[in-house]
Amino acid sequence: MKKNGNLIVISGPSGVGKSTLVKRAMSELPELQFSVSCTTRSPREGETDGKSYYFLSDDEFAAKLDAGEFLEFANVYKHRYGTLKSEVLNRIRRGEEVLLDIDVQGARQIRAAAEKDPEIRAAAQFIIIAPPSLDTIRERLTARNSETPEQLAIRVDAALNELKNFRLYDFMVVNDDLETAAAELITILKALKLRTANIQEEIFQ
Ligand code: 5GP
Repeated sequence: MKKNGNLIVISGPSGVGKSTLVKRAMSELPELQFSVSCTTRSPREGETDGKSYYFLSDDEFAAKLDAGEFLEFANVYKHRYGTLKSEVLNRIRRGEEVLLDIDVQGARQIRAAAEKDPEIRAAAQFIIIAPPSLDTIRERLTARNSETPEQLAIRVDAALNELKNFRLYDFMVVNDDLETAAAELITILKALKLRTANIQEEIFQ
């Protein structure tokens, strides 16, 4: 059966445990392909160019933007981030499940693209990871101890902004207990694979 893959957008504020959940899902579902984004921020310890992100200079990012290479892009915490069309479109056409870890601005752009493009519309699915409360985010970010009080306030504010937009998403997973949240996310991803919207042929004639 000829099927397109899903374009799965996962958003969630920093401190919500999104990367842990995404890693869990990827180790359990080998068919998931991570869409590597471009960013102008510097690599953190343990991050590899081409795997975590494509780390670009401001000029390199601007050149790709001018060339129309991005499916979506956004400014997040003073840096630029963007999803390359080449990371996504051909892969969903090949039937791969492509996972995008992007913020709410990016999710909104993919929603808009889906309205215009039936292929994206058939493939795009949106999941938000939420904390049980805003206080949880504050506590987790404080425990991480990597932000100044000002940066912390900015991130908590950004978290609230992102969470206010939860209706932009099709699914919400609340990360209170990690095991439960991971199981819920994996259940959603397994079910998405069974959607009829991606089937490319009339199979029962
Ligand atoms: P970090 O710098 O912590 O890796 O990511 C910061 C935020 O940027 C996260 O919320 C992440 O989802 C978002 N992000 C990462 N890549 C992209 C992208 O390509 N597009 C958009 N819109 N957001 C992204």
